[in-house]
Amino acid sequence: MIDFSLSEEQQLIQKMARDFAQSEILPHAADFDRSGDYPEEIVRKAFQADLVYGVIPEQYGGGGLDGLDQLLIAEELSAACAGIGSCIAINSLAAIPLIYFGSEKQKESLLSMICTEEKKMALCVTEPGAGSDVSSISSTAKKIGAKYILNGNKTFITNGGVADYYIVFASIDRALGHKGITAFWVPRDLPGVSVGKKEDKMGQRAANTTDVIFDQVEIPETDRIGEEGQGFKIIMQTFNHSRPGVGASAVGVARSAMEYALKYASEREQFGLPILMHQAVMFMLADMAKDIEAGRLLAWQAAWKGSQGLDNSKEAAIAKVFCGDMVMRVTTDAVQVLGGYGYIKDYPVEKLMRDAKVFQIYEGTAQIQRLLIGRALMKDLF
Ligand SMILES: Cc1cc2nc3c(=O)[nH]c(=O)nc-3n(C[C@H](O)[C@H](O)[C@H](O)COP(=O)(O)OP(=O)(O)OC[C@H]3O[C@@H](n4cnc5c(N)ncnc54)[C@H](O)[C@@H]3O)c2cc1C
Repeated sequence: MIDFSLSEEQQLIQKMARDFAQSEILPHAADFDRSGDYPEEIVRKAFQADLVYGVIPEQYGGGGLDGLDQLLIAEELSAACAGIGSCIAINSLAAIPLIYFGSEKQKESLLSMICTEEKKMALCVTEPGAGSDVSSISSTAKKIGAKYILNGNKTFITNGGVADYYIVFASIDRALGHKGITAFWVPRDLPGVSVGKKEDKMGQRAANTTDVIFDQVEIPETDRIGEEGQGFKIIMQTFNHSRPGVGASAVGVARSAMEYALKYASEREQFGLPILMHQAVMFMLADMAKDIEAGRLLAWQAAWKGSQGLDNSKEAAIAKVFCGDMVMRVTTDAVQVLGGYGYIKDYPVEKLMRDAKVFQIYEGTAQIQRLLIGRALMKDLF
């Protein structure tokens, strides 16, 4: 039985997120886009509104939301500003390794602490020499007695400069390839941890994206997450959980672009008619509407499958790549619908187009998602 209606509780979550996004985020979106500053005060309010750690089970102080609930929030926040939305969403994403692979003791102490003390997190996978090829990361964690000595440079880390805690992936033995990758909980205030260059980005500019450097950082064995060598699996499972949410964020951006373009097209007149009445323009809007609906349903399906405890890796990749490509098309066409005005910063659609691009890049590029889908198809064959 398939039921596409939202429950009463889901409608409330959606409304709460929409109200927050429209009143607390949207009015400041253009300013943060211009400055590239981190929206500290908005994130603080998001904590108070319980929008940050929805993914964490209630028993550890989180929202206890399931995958679909989080997608409703992601769409609304990103519809107001994807950069500010990602400042909020990245915390939940970074907590996923602990939720799935942390020991009961770690969950009770660490998850509860970040919720009650409103601590921020970041997920450190990417390195200057290891992006798509996660298995080639060169950060190392050498075991000495009951400690690991962590060394490495992480790059493009969302929340890198503002997080209190990092989830860091490093190799205990590079000769083991992906089987050597291991996950660690790393407080930012440990000696040897430092924040490097902050990126000046094309879009999603409110998000704080920096290098994070680990130099002879001592990590107690008790702060390893999961087993030695389980890191690659942890990263993949984390992405299976988060990619539908990235898809939903892309849907939010696309929805905003379509709504603005539709309103504009109904008001702007050329050749004696609202431009919406010219079929070429109307068809661009029709394509936007169909692609947004399709993207939302793919994201919901992938999240639903994951929340049933089923393998959703193929569906998560499909949702992520479809929504990433879709939001790029929709925002580009929204600029087209506005003509010259679309290209001007006084109008919001050029920001939406800049914000859209990174959906095809982070959390696995569009090409890598296709690779994953292709591999899943082959697995079904042989
Ligand atoms: C704004 C932003 C925020 C980010 N946040 C985080 C974060 O919080 N934590 C984190 O760890 N990382 C983060 N990243 C990093 C992001 O996940 C990587 O940029 C991404 O995985 C791609 O890696 P890369 O940039 O090194 O590109 P590369 O891997 O060098 O890829 C370059 C190009 O080659 C293509 N390519 C590579 N390999 C293949 C292949 N086998 N087949 C086909 N094509 C291929 C890619 O698709 C791409 O088009 C962020 C990046 C950005 C831009």
